[in-house]
Amino acid sequence: TKAFDVERIRRDFPILAQEVNGKPLVYLDNGASAQKPIAVLDAMDRYYREMHSNVHRGAHTLGDRATAAFEGARETVRSFVNAPSSREIIWTRGTTEAINLVANGLAPRLKEGDEILVSHMEHHANIVPWQMVAERTGAKVVPVPVNSAGELDLDAFNSLLNERTRILAITHVSNVLGTVNPIASLIKKAKDQGALTLIDGAQAVPHFKPDVQALDCDFYVFSSHKLFGPTGIGVLYGRAELLEQMPPYQGGGEMIERVSFERTTWNVLPYKFEAGTPAIAEAVGLAAAIRYLDNLDRKAMEAAENALLARANELVSTVPGMEIIGTAAKKVPVMSFKIAGLHPSDIGTLLDQQGIAIRTGHHCAMPLMDFYGVPGTARASFAFYNTLEEVEQLFAGLQKIQRLFT
Ligand code: PMP
Repeated sequence: TKAFDVERIRRDFPILAQEVNGKPLVYLDNGASAQKPIAVLDAMDRYYREMHSNVHRGAHTLGDRATAAFEGARETVRSFVNAPSSREIIWTRGTTEAINLVANGLAPRLKEGDEILVSHMEHHANIVPWQMVAERTGAKVVPVPVNSAGELDLDAFNSLLNERTRILAITHVSNVLGTVNPIASLIKKAKDQGALTLIDGAQAVPHFKPDVQALDCDFYVFSSHKLFGPTGIGVLYGRAELLEQMPPYQGGGEMIERVSFERTTWNVLPYKFEAGTPAIAEAVGLAAAIRYLDNLDRKAMEAAENALLARANELVSTVPGMEIIGTAAKKVPVMSFKIAGLHPSDIGTLLDQQGIAIRTGHHCAMPLMDFYGVPGTARASFAFYNTLEEVEQLFAGLQKIQRLFT
């Protein structure tokens, strides 16, 4: 196996080598969106220079090249999530659209009194689409509480899961807390109750590879831009049998088999869910990101990420009044925090002046903010290209802010 040489890896991400506000950039907002390696930039550039045309038209050579690149990307994604068939890989605009597609597609199965189980740590993208469907169908969205460490309350899960539960829609990893949920066992319990399962993998895939067959989930969704790929594209894995039964999400070109004013019929999977010209270059870019990750030593990468989080945890006591929100036993390297006497948005602005990028606010998880009784948090989210020195710079920055402003 190759050694995990972070300085060499950083050279693959040209955006990191710049100054911001006169200071070397320290990019710790990877949970919001990750940076892209040269391999992704080059793949998209090459696609546009050498092979762009519309896909699935088959009339000429460029069209064939574009189609091969596009469908090749689908196969790369299939392999990344270990789906049985590339028919089960649907391109979407991102996690948000994927969840809306599934919520809409499952709506015909829902009726008054049915329950959709979510968790208190969901991103709004895995709450609001279900609320909209619940409104239409008379079903109810039921949240499973979390404990103060930011772990799912498993006793509450066991009692809230019941014969009325039709869908379990839950995040693999919390974007605020970093908590890794024990989804394999949650999926198994939900299945035993006859419920369908959707896993929001948006924050999981930047840190580990999901295996949809081992997990045995019905749907698994994520966004390319958090996985070091381009914005504007995401993935829905869905079990073929269910996708076959679901109505199309949008109507238009590509998604039809035959159109007449009397009767229109749907195309086969996956095209039934892909109305209109797709994000072709973005699919190519996402596949390049996955190939880039496949060339890294996964074990070494995870160890490096754990070392970043461990170093951050060690340094918390050096900032008076700093408190971590989310102390689950199993976490990805994400650190939400507050500092007594400082508003999160001030922390963000003052760090930015020192070249350090973090995220502040409610992180599209208002119910979780309410649970912790905070308007928002400051959040540093690390990627494998971050260094221990950057973690130390973050804390030096926080110490400075704490001294000057409290
Ligand atoms: N779910 C989670 C857990 C997320 O972190 C995010 C992005 N912050 C989303 C869903 C939504 O992803 P997107 O905006 O790319 O659709």
